Amino acid sequence: MVARRLKSPAVTSVDNAATSQKVSEIVKSVIDDIRANGDSAVRTYSEKFDKWSPASFKLSDAQIQEAIAKVPEQTISDIKEAQKNVRIFAEAQRASIKDVEIEIQPGVFLGHRNNPITTAGAYIPGGRYPLLASAHMTILTAKVAGVKHVIACTPPINGEIPNATVAAAHLAGADEIFILGGTQAVAAMAVGTETIRKVEFLAGPGNAFVAEAKRQLFGEMGIDLLAGPTEILIVADEHADAFTVATDLLSQAEHGPDSPAVLITNSEQLGRQTMHFIEQQLKTLSTAHLASVSWRDFGEVIIVDDMDEAYGLADEYASEHVQVLTQTPRDALENMTNYGALFLGEKTCVSYGDKCIGTNHVLPTRKAGRYTGGLWVGKYLKTQTYQEVTSEKASGELGKLCGRCARAELFEGHARSGDLRDSKYLGVKYDW
Ligand code: NAD
Repeated sequence: MVARRLKSPAVTSVDNAATSQKVSEIVKSVIDDIRANGDSAVRTYSEKFDKWSPASFKLSDAQIQEAIAKVPEQTISDIKEAQKNVRIFAEAQRASIKDVEIEIQPGVFLGHRNNPITTAGAYIPGGRYPLLASAHMTILTAKVAGVKHVIACTPPINGEIPNATVAAAHLAGADEIFILGGTQAVAAMAVGTETIRKVEFLAGPGNAFVAEAKRQLFGEMGIDLLAGPTEILIVADEHADAFTVATDLLSQAEHGPDSPAVLITNSEQLGRQTMHFIEQQLKTLSTAHLASVSWRDFGEVIIVDDMDEAYGLADEYASEHVQVLTQTPRDALENMTNYGALFLGEKTCVSYGDKCIGTNHVLPTRKAGRYTGGLWVGKYLKTQTYQEVTSEKASGELGKLCGRCARAELFEGHARSGDLRDSKYLGVKYDW
């Protein structure tokens, strides 16, 4: 079985590597400067990249209320409704995470607790669009997990405060809101400055600069995942509606000029019709300046022999969003394990997940779905173990075992801790 391509991406991995190298160098220099010079460096880069240099990057309570007052009532009500869905699902997920304690032998107790991180940063992208839904996904989820202090950072849009994003961040429960974007926001939260508190963990999607900053600062702080430019992959059979496939591919291609949109289908006719409808829709799409570049550079249409091959290939792509438009979409649950999120059947779509249905939209890109799922309450929790031995006999026996295990590794100090318990509780004499 050899998949055939009706459309291949125009951009090669060599182009990507060159871009990544440049982004990486810019990000490193910004981080180094902010580490050395704190707030004054933050201001320098905010001015340089966003032409934004207010008296304070942090919004006061009055500024937050002023911003919210400018948001249409319908938008506020829609934010609340979307946040309700995100909260219900996040609370259900939280309830599914259990603490554990087991007595593995008489008097030997092992357990773990799921403790929330204390301080988290939430990056809400806003370079091109006010991605206010990211506020629900990062801040609300952190709060449901029990994080005490959440700092939100979002860039200005065209030199203005993004009012609806501020409203969403406030309603989601952010403790502090900064109008600050890109590497300078991520670096300031990671290393801490005179006015921006250092966080223990940072979550949120962003462009290549944001993702690279998170990558370089990982270790100094925890991160959710590297949520880079959005991707969509649709698995469709011959029964799928080509107009729907085209519409849904473009819904993600419009995120930016580097968002892959891929169709894998067993129907050449569906593939050709989809390509036709994409060209047709691009003529009227207001975001065609981005979507058409993405489609040209990263779009793919692949024809396979059957649906087994389709699922196998989709699993290799490990795309962020996988939409399944077949007669039996739940087959994907059994046939795929590499993806950020699945969207099963025509009655839902990736846009529902992005904006309002309640699953988290911060998802792994660039094949990271091979080793991680997306953002969820569990990412804000630390699963931490403990142990207690209440039986003298068990402690002594463990002491003997520990002594032998440690000496096999030439660790005499470890061994003596075991010997000591053996001696104290079972009366065995040691000659050290
Ligand atoms: P953004 O907030 O991520 O980035 C804007 C910032 O980028 C600006 O504040 C600026 O400081 C910085 N920047 C721009 N050009 C720069 C340059 N030349 N040098 C240094 N810094 C520069 O907003 P965006 O650009 O709109 O990107 C949002 C991204 O988030 C999109 O790529 C979208 O696909 C992605 N996204 C991903 C997910 C996911 O879960 N994977 C979800 C939503 C959005």
